[in-house]
Amino acid sequence: MASYTTNIPVNNVFNVTAVFGQSGSMWKNGHKGVDITADNKSLYSICDGEVTVVGWDADGWGRYVSIKPNGFERIRIILCHLVKDSVKVKVGDKVTRVTKIGTMGTTGNSTGVHVHVEMRVDNTAVDPTPYMLIANKKASGLEDTDYKFNSSDQNAALTAVLAAFDTKNSSESSHAECEKKIKSLEAELESVKAKLSAAESKIQNVKKIIA
Ligand SMILES: [Zn+2]
Repeated sequence: MASYTTNIPVNNVFNVTAVFGQSGSMWKNGHKGVDITADNKSLYSICDGEVTVVGWDADGWGRYVSIKPNGFERIRIILCHLVKDSVKVKVGDKVTRVTKIGTMGTTGNSTGVHVHVEMRVDNTAVDPTPYMLIANKKASGLEDTDYKFNSSDQNAALTAVLAAFDTKNSSESSHAECEKKIKSLEAELESVKAKLSAAESKIQNVKKIIA
């Protein structure tokens, strides 16, 4: 079995059971995170950071833990569906990549034991797989070998996540600007057409008088 360095919340062999953006009856607007299962149910923080929320969302995330990575105020990494009473950390706790957070469960909107990993930038869900160092596709029998992913890797990866997010947003907003401009030019064209047709009918009238 091929093994490689990943940055996922479980230790050892794991499966990716649902990918970011996947559609399904469970997800009205597409799946907002990545689902992982593993034989070893212990869950670890996947970043060096601080716990911002230990929450309960009966219809969604179930028992969840939200972590703010060190130095990245705009980013949150959220681990969901934990066993209700398994959480080992509390709000304000400093965690590292290897801090045990709790136990994988199936609380909330979940049909089986797994962890839903969600990454948010400015509270908008983004694909966490570039940060997790895995492909955004279903796979089984993957092996997380060790914890080679360190703080400087984390900083580089999260800086890339923010850059991608901001680039996408600015191209979307310039796209919106262009559409606005097209609309206003179209309106201008319509008004010119109306003037032209009024002028044409005046010419016709004058021609009638001359005739
Ligand atoms: Zn999920």
